[in-house]
Amino acid sequence: MAKVWFVGAGPGDPELITVKGMRLLQTAGAVLYAGSLVSHACTRYAAKEALIADSKGMDLAAICDWLITQAQGNRDVVRLQTGDPSLYGALVEMMQPLEAAGIEIGIVPGVSSAFAAAAAAAESLTLPEVTQTVIFTRVAGRTPMPQGESLAKLAAHGTTLCIFLSITLLAKVRSDLLEAGWSDNAPVVVVYKASWPEEERVVRAPLAEIAAACQAAGVTSQAMILVSPALGARDWPTLQRSKLYDEHFSHRFRRGLYPKSLEMMEGGKVANPHELSKPK
Ligand code: SAH
Repeated sequence: MAKVWFVGAGPGDPELITVKGMRLLQTAGAVLYAGSLVSHACTRYAAKEALIADSKGMDLAAICDWLITQAQGNRDVVRLQTGDPSLYGALVEMMQPLEAAGIEIGIVPGVSSAFAAAAAAAESLTLPEVTQTVIFTRVAGRTPMPQGESLAKLAAHGTTLCIFLSITLLAKVRSDLLEAGWSDNAPVVVVYKASWPEEERVVRAPLAEIAAACQAAGVTSQAMILVSPALGARDWPTLQRSKLYDEHFSHRFRRGLYPKSLEMMEGGKVANPHELSKPK
């Protein structure tokens, strides 16, 4: 029986698909890709005889019909999803009709644009003693936010935020962040088409100026907004090193040089120039 695979295509660079995803593309009889977001280049891995279609003009029902018809024709099918299929990918809405039609499905994870954006900007989303939490979110567009998940609420934690689907709503992002206690000086990074060869752009500005900076750079779509007290840390003069690599720190795979407890470690304060921008 043929199977429908939901494959994370990664953020755009065809080399950022997983080896497993690439292998499935090479052997699939039919491939449906989201033309607006998945780089067409990913379909380069498909066999010459494979049926390849763009789902750009299809609604959800048409997409499911296409996948079901191809699988019933006994070919393995790949549905290429942008980034990772579990994030903002209508995965459940597509799985349900397929399962109702008795079709077996499989899912292959992908590199999310959140990680491609961090890589493009050479930023770490976590930093010891600064932030150890990453929130993936968006502001309400046509899809409303569930109760308790407004950006103003989530941002009050002062953690790293990866804000999807919101580049046209930067004014709302700013007002929510200000309401949460962030400062207008807080650093913001916007990455347009992260990992897309020759198209990627990184825009950096304080919160107050990020909308104008994106406008000036022509960035109005397909962009990730990163907000974090750890942004720009590679330029900080001093840094608390990750305890994982500290010579005094024993863990499961390595014994530390000295049997010092973590509590006894000298813990010099993190010199974070953005400390004041993070909500208290
Ligand atoms: N499943 C995808 C997200 C799909 S939602 C993932 O894991 O990345 C689409 C949103 O993702 C866009 O509005 C944008 O915010 C972000 N996005 C997708 N590809 C991107 C890229 N190459 N660079 C920056 N942002 C991207």
